Amino acid sequence: MSILVTGGAGYIGSHTVLYLREHGEDVIVLDNLSKGHKDALQGAAFYEGSLHDEELLDEVFGKHSIDSVIHFAASSLVGESVTDPLSYYENNVMGTYHLVKKMVEHDVKHIVFSSTAATYGEPKSIPIKEDDPTIPTNPYGETKLAIEKMLKWNDQAYGLKSVCLRYFNAAGADPEGRIGEDHDPETHLIPIVLQVALGQRESLKIFGNDYPTDDGTCVRDYIHVMDLAQAHYLAVQKLRNGSKSAVYNLGNEEGFSVKQVIGTCREITNRTIDAELTPRRPGDPAVLIASSDKAKEELNWSPVYPDLKSMVSHAWGWHCGHESGFGE
Ligand code: UDP
Repeated sequence: MSILVTGGAGYIGSHTVLYLREHGEDVIVLDNLSKGHKDALQGAAFYEGSLHDEELLDEVFGKHSIDSVIHFAASSLVGESVTDPLSYYENNVMGTYHLVKKMVEHDVKHIVFSSTAATYGEPKSIPIKEDDPTIPTNPYGETKLAIEKMLKWNDQAYGLKSVCLRYFNAAGADPEGRIGEDHDPETHLIPIVLQVALGQRESLKIFGNDYPTDDGTCVRDYIHVMDLAQAHYLAVQKLRNGSKSAVYNLGNEEGFSVKQVIGTCREITNRTIDAELTPRRPGDPAVLIASSDKAKEELNWSPVYPDLKSMVSHAWGWHCGHESGFGE
């Protein structure tokens, strides 16, 4: 049986594809390469195309014995989602609509969905649990939550079983340095800090130091991308074993402030990293930390690289070897 991975050329998708293949899975990737990189596929079977292309979906489901889908393909920039919400509804909600419609038609019963901590919005309590209120503060989180709900109703109607994985802050890279993070534009903290360390940027901006946290900067729960990959693999096995649909947080239950992240990057790289203070970025909650007990108990998920230093050093390894990313 094969696993279809949509968005498998992107950052988390490509690390998951690598992990699946290293664990003996037959993987087929569908990606439109709007953000992803062909070199990130490392030779995996690949269809270039869009989720909106129902004929292509028919071809992929018709040619391969796919029993499970891992669905990453989506737009994922919070700021862009605020200025261009319609494209988020089109890409994320409509894209998933076509995918799920074709899964139902081709009798594919398992989907693991790439969701996000942004479904919670401003948390009422920390650590965040899966049954806490979900009140997204931007269209990105709103579209991901809409998809979670779409999947719930499709389970009820068609028996399509889903696992929705709500990631906190993905970080790091393949420990062997084969693939890593390469976004254009880059908006995420750790790669931006490492670009400063490499001399590709003069300095970075710290978005606000007046948050109610120990040092005034935002606190996030960073999670190694290979540990996210492991969770997707386990989620597929759980669905194959006949489990019911479920939602899981994926984080390390430990928060690091923006200043602490910069400090760790200085330590690992041993380079000068200049940072300037700027006003808050709109929509950033002060603290986001996950409770991941449920994933540990029910998926037997066990993060291998829970420490921030491993995440930064693996990311640094990739960036040093690939100063212009995948170079496309
Ligand atoms: N951040 C920052 N400067 C940057 C990028 C991010 O201060 O150039 C902060 C951001 O405000 C947030 C944290 O770093 O508190 C992590 O941001 P990122 O965009 O990496 O992930 P997010 O938490 O938005 O998913």
